[in-house]
Amino acid sequence: MIDLRSDTVTRPTEPMRRAMADAEVGDDVFGEDPTVNRLESMVAERLDKEASLFVPSGTQSNLCALLAHCGRGDEYIAGDTSHIVRLEGGGGAVLGGIAPQPVATDLDGLPDAEAIAAAIKPDDCHFARTRLLCLENTKDGMVQSPQRMDHAIKVARDASLSVHLDGARMWNACVDLGVSGAELTAGFDTVSMCLSKGLGAPAGSVLSGPRALIDEARKWRKMLGGGLRQAGVLAAAGIHALTHHVERLLDDHVRATRLGETLSEIDRIEVTALNTNMIFISIDAPASDLSERLRERGVLCNVPRTRGLKEPSPYSQLSGARLVTHLDISDDDISRAVDAFAAELAGGRQ
Ligand SMILES: *Cc1c(COP(=O)(O)O)cnc(C)c1O
Repeated sequence: MIDLRSDTVTRPTEPMRRAMADAEVGDDVFGEDPTVNRLESMVAERLDKEASLFVPSGTQSNLCALLAHCGRGDEYIAGDTSHIVRLEGGGGAVLGGIAPQPVATDLDGLPDAEAIAAAIKPDDCHFARTRLLCLENTKDGMVQSPQRMDHAIKVARDASLSVHLDGARMWNACVDLGVSGAELTAGFDTVSMCLSKGLGAPAGSVLSGPRALIDEARKWRKMLGGGLRQAGVLAAAGIHALTHHVERLLDDHVRATRLGETLSEIDRIEVTALNTNMIFISIDAPASDLSERLRERGVLCNVPRTRGLKEPSPYSQLSGARLVTHLDISDDDISRAVDAFAAELAGGRQ
């Protein structure tokens, strides 16, 4: 199966499985898993932060960050289409009494700087205390402009807010811009990254930042049920991913571009966005069972069942169907996927 639904569907490679099998382990809740400790120091060093924390998922990583930065009655500002606001179950509010303050997101995925400034509350008993700004990079695959991010960060800093980066796919931004992880994240107090997306590990995220905040986040991780024991088996996959699967993200970007460019030659397909390892397409009058028919041809992707492909998606800022390239998608898979679309959307590519 050619699975274009997400870059989370990758299976560990043979060398990654060997690294996992060979991992030296201990009880990480006691701080005694040498492989987890190695992963945490490796990430802290790469991002030039004081400390890091290995967590089971990106959602838990962002939630630990919210809980470490904010208390009950505080609020955080984030884009209204951001993952932390829309796709994490409202965890900060549910579990921390932390109010989200969503602000308008520009077309490039960044919350508007003026909207951020306007959302910051004065010290007044009517208001929640504004504590934190959360940005996201990449956002629906879009690499954020460093200048625009710096400007948003400055607005937050001028009001003494802390700043968190949801960098689930930050390495896609790094290879696209040709900058290091430390450069990309220098303006942020805390940074969350996923090992389980384009990097190809089976699970795990890492939260990085100042030691005091990471110590606080470690307590929250335990309370949230994220204290794992011999987690070195998973951390070994993360170390392998950071060592071998970062530069190759460029291959995913090249393949996504090729997928977009060749799909756009099919009459009924319009490619609406080509962002790092993601493309978004609109299909004119698709059959309601198009996803099932593509599946029969060996291609997995989420094409909405009905017309209205240009309607906003609940999952992303961009409309249409999202197709994602990753470690388990080869050049040949791209050609076969395009052939499957062409065959289903008859009257398309000649
Ligand atoms: C996937 C994702 C998360 C959450 O990660 P999970 O491991 O799925 O919980 C957070 N933020 C962004 C931008 C993501 O893409």
